[in-house]
Amino acid sequence: MSLRAITEAGNRRVWCALACAVALAALLPVRTMAKQGSTCTPGTALHLSAPAIPQGGLLLIEVKSTKPLAEVSGEWEGRDVTFWRDSEGDRQRKGLLGVDLEKVPGEYELKVTGQTASGEKFSCSVMVAVRKGQYATEKLQVEKQFVEPDAEQIKRANEERQQLRDIFDRVTPERLWDGKFRIPLDGVTSGTNFGKRRILNGVPGSPHGGTDLRAITGTPVHAAQRGKVVLAEELFFAGNAVVVDHGLGIYTFYGHLSEIGVKVGDAVETGAVLGKVGATGRVTGPHLHWGLTVEKARVNPLLIVKLLGDASEEAKGKGSPSLK
Ligand SMILES: [Zn+2]
Repeated sequence: MSLRAITEAGNRRVWCALACAVALAALLPVRTMAKQGSTCTPGTALHLSAPAIPQGGLLLIEVKSTKPLAEVSGEWEGRDVTFWRDSEGDRQRKGLLGVDLEKVPGEYELKVTGQTASGEKFSCSVMVAVRKGQYATEKLQVEKQFVEPDAEQIKRANEERQQLRDIFDRVTPERLWDGKFRIPLDGVTSGTNFGKRRILNGVPGSPHGGTDLRAITGTPVHAAQRGKVVLAEELFFAGNAVVVDHGLGIYTFYGHLSEIGVKVGDAVETGAVLGKVGATGRVTGPHLHWGLTVEKARVNPLLIVKLLGDASEEAKGKGSPSLK
């Protein structure tokens, strides 16, 4: 059986669980089991894009009901998981669950609750297994002056880290994006260094929170989806940087730009030019540092393209981006 056939059979089973749930609703008391160990009120099914997820990973959650849905909300590890309705109708909602790059591996319960249009409450629960991410570690011995910023630089970097945290803490309740995401550089289908940890002179640094896309200085950098520019300035580590708020707690980050072409408050469409590739900030050569934050979790940005589809013309027909 091919992988595709297995997946399709799996999908059939999930959605069959829905139909079966309806049939069994009359026979079974209160709750019934769905796929992947999820427990749902009869008439509702919960599907995760994968049963387990590595650190820095992203899950697509789908909730389906036999009745039109009015409200759906989720909670995982003290964080809200927001759901949206797409073109597939009023009996379905989708949500994204991002697992931070440094989330401690283990099993954590995802709870989804909601109400149908006719006022019936429902709930689902599933354990999400977080696995250790398999990311490279690089050990380097370098001269001190290149590793240790001075006091003033440390202060600046800390302030900027807090500034970014404050941005990512805000959840815009509207979904500003619509449809597929794209990789910000034309013709680029893969990135490197996500999650890589550097040990400089024996001191472990933070893991690399984005993916690096190689390109020459001056290459246009495009918005991954529609959104609003919430940061456009020079930062100590990231150099000239832009952050786009896509709504529902989803932000994309673009660093080391040679030029910034937008300002805070600008509404941008998918593919809008945000600036140009450069080598500003702490880098060894020109590239785009592309980051994705989902409800405060640092996630491999290539995964949102993989899960929601690729919006870039260039990538059409080339299949999924590789996840190096
Ligand atoms: Zn980077």
